[in-house]
Amino acid sequence: MRAKTKVIHGGITGDEQTGAVSVPIYQTSTYKQDQVGKHRGYEYSRTGNPTRHALETVISDLENGKSGFAFGSGMAAITSIMMLFNAEDHVIMTDDVYGGTYRLMTSVLNRFNLNHTYVDTSYKEKVEAAITNKTKAIYVETPTNPLLKITDIKEMAEIAKKHDLKLIVDNTFATPYWQQPIDLGADIVLHSATKYIGGHSDVVAGLVVVNSDQLAEDLHFIQNSAGGVLGPQDSWLLMRGIKTLALRMEAIEANTKKIISFLQDHEQVSTIYYPGIESHKGHNVASSQASGYGGMVSFDVGSGKLAQKVLEKVNYFTLAESLGAVESLISLPAQMTHASIPRERRLELGITDGLIRISVGIEDSEDLIEDLKQALEG
Ligand SMILES: *Cc1c(COP(=O)(O)O)cnc(C)c1O
Repeated sequence: MRAKTKVIHGGITGDEQTGAVSVPIYQTSTYKQDQVGKHRGYEYSRTGNPTRHALETVISDLENGKSGFAFGSGMAAITSIMMLFNAEDHVIMTDDVYGGTYRLMTSVLNRFNLNHTYVDTSYKEKVEAAITNKTKAIYVETPTNPLLKITDIKEMAEIAKKHDLKLIVDNTFATPYWQQPIDLGADIVLHSATKYIGGHSDVVAGLVVVNSDQLAEDLHFIQNSAGGVLGPQDSWLLMRGIKTLALRMEAIEANTKKIISFLQDHEQVSTIYYPGIESHKGHNVASSQASGYGGMVSFDVGSGKLAQKVLEKVNYFTLAESLGAVESLISLPAQMTHASIPRERRLELGITDGLIRISVGIEDSEDLIEDLKQALEG
């Protein structure tokens, strides 16, 4: 099945019993048992719910994995993955991971002695050098936020295999429509489904797909034990979102291409960070492992003052955190998502005061370009 068909026909669709084409929302916490200990596949909705299960089968199909799991947020998903490990285990992580992941590792899981080292995972040598006899996993995010840094997933999978580590990939920015890490050798793939998978800025959710029966059993045990599950209503909204994932990603890609060429020609814009641009450091790797580059773009307008003005003047770009929705969003990483990082460290990373991040939506590209133009020049 090809990707565009898979978003419609992948996993469990509809309802066998009634013929309903849309999976019903099983708004139930518990299930009548036929006899003591004899149930029809479901006993309690933390353990399993048919609507959530249908979603879990679709995401597993989209990522070409063995089993899928749905959580109440991307962070709940990441937390549950980390619970697969034990105290004193060590995880190597991409150095510019999502801020919430950084906080989870450094301020929460550190208290349980789950250790980590941040590494620029775009350099294979740096990853290998960080491996210790306690290392159990490599956790990468690719592309990253807001500089769209790229890690070579296949290369990471080779290192992981050689050292018997699990490779975990945060695939939020690329989406399974453009990039399938399990095919490239990853063991676990996760999403903040709040972003492109939901796609409409109306659900907070997390999804995980694993590549083996053992990991499926282990993660289900954690999901049921820790309990950070996604409710049936939100599961249904994600399935609805997934049906248009292909259409949305194609539309976003096309809009982004046009916006990039506008930005490239604009004198107020210096550096543009987008893996689809040939001069981007990760361009070749991105081209080899993903079939699209996505709708996240960061660009430098030289000063915090101009950046603020642009954010104030745009009409169609909504000033907000988050990303991956039908509506275009705009943000200023230095003062929003990355404000908690000291300025010096931010500048080292390339997150300047004038760096603007946009999440391109599916509006008419002409309107989006006119909007950016008047904001930059007005
Ligand atoms: C948003 C995000 C998360 C966290 O997901 P929530 O749904 O907000 O909990 C994790 N990783 C990436 C790359 C994200 O963008």
